[in-house]
Amino acid sequence: MRNVVIGGVAAGMSAASQAKRRMPNAEVIVLERGDHVSYGACGMPYNIEDPQRDILDLVVITPAEFRHTRGIDVRTRHEVLSIRAAQREIEVRDHVAGHNYLQGYDRLVIATGAEAVRPPIPGIDLPGVFLLRDLADGDAIKRFIDETGPQRAVIIGAGYIGMEMADVLNRRGLAVSVLERAQQVLPGFEPVIAGIVLDELHRHDVKVETGVAVLGVERTGQGLLVRTDRGETAADLILVSAGIRPNVALARSAGARLGEHGAIAVDTRQGTSLADIYAAGDCAEAFHRVLSKPAYVPLGTTANKQGRVAGANAAGGDEHFAGIVGTAGFRVFDLEVARTGVGAAEISSHGLDAISVVSRHASRGHHFPGSGRITTVVFAERDSGRLLGAQMVGADTVAKRVDIFATALHARMSVADVESLDLSYAPPFAPVYDPVLIAARVARKALSGHH
Ligand SMILES: Cc1cc2nc3c(=O)[nH]c(=O)nc-3n(C[C@H](O)[C@H](O)[C@H](O)COP(=O)(O)OP(=O)(O)OC[C@H]3O[C@@H](n4cnc5c(N)ncnc54)[C@H](O)[C@@H]3O)c2cc1C
Repeated sequence: MRNVVIGGVAAGMSAASQAKRRMPNAEVIVLERGDHVSYGACGMPYNIEDPQRDILDLVVITPAEFRHTRGIDVRTRHEVLSIRAAQREIEVRDHVAGHNYLQGYDRLVIATGAEAVRPPIPGIDLPGVFLLRDLADGDAIKRFIDETGPQRAVIIGAGYIGMEMADVLNRRGLAVSVLERAQQVLPGFEPVIAGIVLDELHRHDVKVETGVAVLGVERTGQGLLVRTDRGETAADLILVSAGIRPNVALARSAGARLGEHGAIAVDTRQGTSLADIYAAGDCAEAFHRVLSKPAYVPLGTTANKQGRVAGANAAGGDEHFAGIVGTAGFRVFDLEVARTGVGAAEISSHGLDAISVVSRHASRGHHFPGSGRITTVVFAERDSGRLLGAQMVGADTVAKRVDIFATALHARMSVADVESLDLSYAPPFAPVYDPVLIAARVARKALSGHH
């Protein structure tokens, strides 16, 4: 039995490790076109923040360790050019030796991930303009900061990576400006949450322009210049964090079905429409338990879990991925921001009849040191009272509180169910009524007001 995995990051290495564990005698080969495998991309901002840390600290297990201690044949700088599903073979470019070869497989896992969108504007390839997707990108940004000492950064795109990097570059002493095409930062969040984040950015002297279109980048005698439809901003370093798209070219040309979001369609066993070919991670869709349909929410947490399921099934198992509810969190300066479930955009595009309520409450017991205010938005279905989503922002224990809502969404609970949860209380951790319970109560009352 030979299992071949394409892609060696979160989904790919989880799949390979699981396949090998299930079937120790099977041959497991990982083909990765980059130089590194098994690294935590999510840790890159925090690594870049710390000049003392080596970027390679993010590598969890090296290819040599995989080979020698786990018996997994990891081949870096090996790029898969095509999949010939009918012949059960793939064409591989060995960039080290400089030749191509055909590799046979019994089961194949596609874990090709996603790539950062590079907007088609003039000057986007100039030196000093960066994307942040893989370890090589992180390495390049870190070296550029260490070697050239940039003073001014422009970040194009105010999603969660843009926000994390505004924080990081500010901590590294750069003057940061953020340019966002949408009318607010964090387009996936409610305006009330985005407004609190905007205040936090301003408090740290980060300049923000929203509703602005970037037209091009130029090099001048004084560095780089970003031209927008409103004017221009000078920079020494530009980070483009304008979203990602799934790497599906291989799967598509092999004939695998893609879903409506453009990622590879998979069943709960991570099987694709092609026999003995699985897909996992940022190249694939995931079943969204709130919407009861596939969605594309590319995150490391899902990539690891889907990879594990794909690897187990490639090795003859029968594992199923339970699906997602769309949970994500991040930090920006002194704020934690997190969301789970669906937000206003998905609610309207799926024609759901829902209410949303905003509540504000302390994070800890009355007057307890370190207590901060948490702002919560809850979405609930009007007729059934079912919880549909929650978003939270605050200085203290927000991300883990959103996980309570995530659990409730997984179990399809109503806001009344959430309101009656038995959550822990002690002044260092929570007020008597946790902000989660308060938010659920406000939603339940708003719903009953409608009847
Ligand atoms: C800055 C940053 C911060 C993040 N923070 C978080 C976070 O806090 N929480 C969270 O859950 N997620 C976070 N993520 C997202 C997370 O990193 C990704 O979801 C995760 O890396 C996806 O893993 P993957 O294995 O599916 O794909 P990828 O990480 O994209 O890996 C795919 C690999 O496949 C290789 N490949 C592609 N095509 C080929 C080919 N033809 N031949 C050979 N190899 C190929 C690529 O080179 C790549 O190495 C963050 C991402 C970034 C960039």
